[in-house]
Amino acid sequence: MSNKRSRSEIVTIVTVSHSFTAISDQIATYFVSENSTLYLCDACLTFFASENHLVQHITDCAHLFWVPGNEIYRNKEKKFCVYEIDGRNLQSFLFLRRLGILTRFFLPEKVTLDDVHFFAFYALFEVDDYGFHFVGYFSKEWRKNSACVNTLSCVMVLPPYRAKGYGSFLGELSYELARQDGMVGTPERPLSGSGKLLFRKVWKGEVLRAIHLIDSSKSVVTLNTLCQMTGLIVEDVLVGLEDLGIMFTRNKQSPFIILLEEKKTALNKRRLQPQLLQWVPC
Ligand SMILES: [Zn+2]
Repeated sequence: MSNKRSRSEIVTIVTVSHSFTAISDQIATYFVSENSTLYLCDACLTFFASENHLVQHITDCAHLFWVPGNEIYRNKEKKFCVYEIDGRNLQSFLFLRRLGILTRFFLPEKVTLDDVHFFAFYALFEVDDYGFHFVGYFSKEWRKNSACVNTLSCVMVLPPYRAKGYGSFLGELSYELARQDGMVGTPERPLSGSGKLLFRKVWKGEVLRAIHLIDSSKSVVTLNTLCQMTGLIVEDVLVGLEDLGIMFTRNKQSPFIILLEEKKTALNKRRLQPQLLQWVPC
């Protein structure tokens, strides 16, 4: 470790199957070795300074097939699963601290390392014969404010797994959990650049599905019903409608929304399969 290192620099993170770059900030830099390469166990999220240390560690890593939380979702066909990890649970403290350090390399402004007890973490892993491979996660505050709920606080997907739909899946999952909890909410602001892009896609999908369901039941589509069905706040519903290019006209009570046939094709793109979710609100 060098205390002469600049405050931010590009580092390479190497796992057993991937290599990707990241930006180290003031805290994350402390973990970077002299050659700016870090070796990461993608099961327990421990960093090592050399490949040899990583290889030795993997032979007896306690997290290869164990995550300190409850499995709430498993897609056997696509071989990935999601665990809910309670930040208030002492058993999860070290894992979440390592998750926080990893996140500092990608979202330094969103993460502090000392407040995990305020949050639940929903961590996604790909699974194969060698164990769990961390893909990404989102966090969510336990605290519920009746005025407006943050459905999600921070979301991150590691670079090798981006553009595979995992970000959209995590966004959809955050809303599914909020709906099952009977909440209407929105992601914590401010959103990062990638967060804005991600959620515009998620809002569009959620609004489209709700319109389709209402339309199928021959009911009138209004902003109020869309908020209730999606769990989105009205501002996010409006962004979704705008991005969908859906026409609506105002009558005396509320807007009418018309779903054009060609828009329905986007309905097939949903990543989340609610029937695979095993979760009850606490
Ligand atoms: Zn490990």
